[in-house]
Amino acid sequence: MNVNQSAPPVPPFGQPQPVYAGYHQSSYGGQPGSTAAPTPYGAYNGPVPGYQQTPPPGVSRAPASSGAPPASTAQGPCGQTAYGQFGQGDVQNGPSSSVQMQRLPGSQPFASAPLAPVVSQPAVLQPYGPPPTSAQVTAQLAGMQISGAVAPAPPASGLGYGPPTSLASASGSFPNSGLYGSYPQGQAPPLGQGHPGAQPPQRSVPPQASSFTSPASGGPRMPSMTGPLLPGQSFGGPPVSQPNHVSSPPPQALPPGTQMTGPPGPPPPMHSSQQPGYQLQQNGSFGPARGPQSNYGSPYPGAATFGSQPGPPQPLPPKRLDPDAIPSPIQVIEDDRNNRGSEPFVTGVRGQVPPLVTTNFLVKDQGNASPRYIRCTSYNIPCTSDMAKQAQVPLAAVIKPLARLPPEEASPYVVDHGESGPLRCNRCKAYMCPFMQFVEGGRRFQCCFCSCINDVPPQYFQHLDHTGKRVDAYDRPELSLGSYEFLATVDYCKNNKFPIPPAFIFMIDVSYNAVRSGLVRLLCEELKSLLDFLPREGGAEESAIRVGFVTYNKVLHFYNVKSSLAQPQMMVVSDVGDMFVPLLDGFLVNVSESRAVITSLLDQIPEMFADTRETETVFAPVIQAGMEALKAAECAGKLFLFHTSLPIAEAPGKLKNRDDRKLINTDKEKTLFQPQSGAYQTLAKECVAQGCCVDLFLFPNQYVDVATLSVVPQLTGGSVYKYACFQVENDQERFLSDLRRDVQKVVGFDAVMRVRTSTGIRAVDFFGAFYMSNTTDVELAGLDGDKTVTVEFKHDDRLNEENGALLQCALLYTSCAGQRRLRIHNLALNCCTQLADLYRNCETDTLINYMAKFAYRGVLSSPVKTVRDTLITQCAQILACYRKNCASPSSAGQLILPECMKLLPVYLNCVLKSEVLQPGAEVTTDDRAYVRQLVTSMDVAETNVFFYPRLLPLTKSPIENTTEPPAVRASEERLSNGDIYLLENGLNLFLWVGASVQQGVVQSVFGVSSFSQITSGLSVLPVLDNLLSKKVRGLIDSLRAQRSRYMKLIVVKQEDKLEMLFKHFLVEDKSLSGGASYVDFLCHMHKEIRQLLS
Ligand SMILES: [Zn+2]
Repeated sequence: MNVNQSAPPVPPFGQPQPVYAGYHQSSYGGQPGSTAAPTPYGAYNGPVPGYQQTPPPGVSRAPASSGAPPASTAQGPCGQTAYGQFGQGDVQNGPSSSVQMQRLPGSQPFASAPLAPVVSQPAVLQPYGPPPTSAQVTAQLAGMQISGAVAPAPPASGLGYGPPTSLASASGSFPNSGLYGSYPQGQAPPLGQGHPGAQPPQRSVPPQASSFTSPASGGPRMPSMTGPLLPGQSFGGPPVSQPNHVSSPPPQALPPGTQMTGPPGPPPPMHSSQQPGYQLQQNGSFGPARGPQSNYGSPYPGAATFGSQPGPPQPLPPKRLDPDAIPSPIQVIEDDRNNRGSEPFVTGVRGQVPPLVTTNFLVKDQGNASPRYIRCTSYNIPCTSDMAKQAQVPLAAVIKPLARLPPEEASPYVVDHGESGPLRCNRCKAYMCPFMQFVEGGRRFQCCFCSCINDVPPQYFQHLDHTGKRVDAYDRPELSLGSYEFLATVDYCKNNKFPIPPAFIFMIDVSYNAVRSGLVRLLCEELKSLLDFLPREGGAEESAIRVGFVTYNKVLHFYNVKSSLAQPQMMVVSDVGDMFVPLLDGFLVNVSESRAVITSLLDQIPEMFADTRETETVFAPVIQAGMEALKAAECAGKLFLFHTSLPIAEAPGKLKNRDDRKLINTDKEKTLFQPQSGAYQTLAKECVAQGCCVDLFLFPNQYVDVATLSVVPQLTGGSVYKYACFQVENDQERFLSDLRRDVQKVVGFDAVMRVRTSTGIRAVDFFGAFYMSNTTDVELAGLDGDKTVTVEFKHDDRLNEENGALLQCALLYTSCAGQRRLRIHNLALNCCTQLADLYRNCETDTLINYMAKFAYRGVLSSPVKTVRDTLITQCAQILACYRKNCASPSSAGQLILPECMKLLPVYLNCVLKSEVLQPGAEVTTDDRAYVRQLVTSMDVAETNVFFYPRLLPLTKSPIENTTEPPAVRASEERLSNGDIYLLENGLNLFLWVGASVQQGVVQSVFGVSSFSQITSGLSVLPVLDNLLSKKVRGLIDSLRAQRSRYMKLIVVKQEDKLEMLFKHFLVEDKSLSGGASYVDFLCHMHKEIRQLLS
């Protein structure tokens, strides 16, 4: 410690260090020693307007462990406002009586049962009112007579969910392939519903009302419905399109009949197929917890089979929920945008739920990390593990430590404490943060994580004001902000040596396929210019990153590109079994110094291998070589591998073709996701130790075993890109765009992440692209701004409402200039003793992100069907617990969903029918492995659009209006054949053209005179000089700019063969692979819930 430093309160960060000249750490606060740098930190010069003190001060910086009572956030004005905005209190459009759906008199249970509308109760009106009446969506399913099937065990195999054989069923019983396809033959379409046949369904009010308000028993009437939207119609006006928002009375005890008297019974024993290696999770281990799901997961023969009675099958006419009456993702997204998009999200108040990821908003850091860095499944967590178990809501945080920020938001400030390094708790090693409590006049501080009392080092001493806050709190990022960085001292460096700048090594497959496809020439040409754009820091003129080059097929070629050489020199290593690096000097070079030699090399490589006949490749030795090169250079870095084929050449890591689609839906399906050789894990471990991150670009013409090849990228924090059947003319734009972005993006190297928590909870599980050698440290050879680490928490003690719970994520990494730093993110959460508070503060998008990752990891060890069943069970338990403990009393026939979770069923269904969990016939094994590893590191925004794609009508709004049109629901019935639509999910981009689109539109967009002349599968739109063409192309550009990977366009014509591919993304519909429609799934979920409650 710096005992020889004088005590005056001169902040250590006032000492400028030459190497950090590009940073503003010394400029804020006008501290002595400030340089004349700009003052990005000006906002922290005490109580400036931009940095409003949150009244009372204790709210935002509530001492966690000292007992000082933080103001209850529930009463905080900010919280109230926020919650009020979040709900739909202003949305209800009906009488405030609860709406009861009644069956037609005398109808058969399924005959003419009106389709259950979803009834949304505007309980948000009093979000924090004493009786927890969180808003509910109630879907009235009385007419479904589900209860009939509930008491006895559900039809074991047959009627309800039938035996699996999803693929066979999908191809066999698909009467209406063009449209719904959800009605088994012989069954009539539902009464009263506009069946979307050849004509667009008319869902005008009268027919619907009539079908809903069957006055069977004088029950409650329909709410005043305000005209559900026609398919394709935008949600322009007030958010009333969910017609059934009604008020609910304050909750009371449930009627005896519906009261659940205890938690669901103990789960039955695990399947024998349960993998022994699989760790049990707090929130649903794999293995069916209950029987009912065992029949699920197979295709729904049709809605009609819901609740079908055991016994002699009576052909019952099917009926459907009205799609307009069930919770709409589009509506929720629009509402949040309208309610929360205009005000900045200020992070000063503990436990605030941020706006949705689909809402554009600015963040003001006032003590908690921005939701761009951390999002939680719930911002109010149960005080006890019993409560948590009862609710089954996973407690998890999706953390993106190096997230990029919009230009309007400042990057985290870098704090330099000089030789003493960052101040930490002596016991738990947590870093100084706004929640630490200074005591004894400022001479000591109590740790907010472990309560340990620590001495304040003399050089850090500062007086306290009358509230107990340090008078310099607003001058120091670590005392006032949720996110900041510390410069690390040499103690935080490998071998106690400051790192040297990282290196990039480009490793290019030059086998026959790579050369023939044009890849090698394209890549070499691109690199010549791309090398000028290597990541650099701050205002640095030039990147500190050095580069090296390797080409390979069965052997490796290293290149000496030393600046003093007239020509590059090649060195061949053919002993791939014992890889070594044949040259050190001249392999890794500075781009500007060696530019002439590098350019010469990149010119020569395509020529050198132009006539190659070599088809075999090695793979593991290539990574080994790159890693050894970094090791020899004593630096961290990144390998960019461009690879085309299954590595079958004799070498370590040699692979065989083991693709076997017959394994799908068997207990051995998991092997398709597992690597076939343990050698890659070993190699990855060595890479991590060296700080060697691997980015893999694949260009396969056939199976390459992505599951195995992606092991090293996955464990080193790298990325995988896949361009199947790559052809320069079709795919170069996509590849080059991805490459440019990948090479330029800022990366932290040789990183370790640790998540600390306050007493009572701890991090127990982690998901993402990283390696862990112990149970607490997430090791990342590289980490970029797109990657997230998802952390699950579990109770190990009781929490209390007063103190809440704290998270601190600390990421130690080497910047791309070679600077060792610590990035700290802090987040304070509320704790509750009432389950209703938990359900009111959940974030469904984050829940889905977690659940998808949990499931996608589960397929490595459990049968896919088991994984699906586990998700369904968990979802049912979450919703049943809400129904039992939080919802207002209502008939058992109503499906009641918490306002914050009303999209959980629709989103979860999208996860269940994704290609990993329920593959269609067209999905390859490599595709599934690829998607599986992609999702593992996705952030919440990415999983949101990936699982529920955006469908944008292009010709509905006036041509002059070039803003993004409001999306419509991802269902075929929303498509009008007179329009064109864009659909995107972050990876794919389709332009769907209706068969009856006006000729003028066709001419404007495609430059041809009729629909039939449009080329199906087209990937580039002609550049035409008219408003519509510009608008469409502009929108495509805009969508691409929002995503981290380039989306290649595919033009799909209605009724064309390609349309089958497109329909896979219409996720509210029943899928060809057997995935349930949203409506069917909601019914099924309702049945599951009722079963749990009965
Ligand atoms: Zn501590």
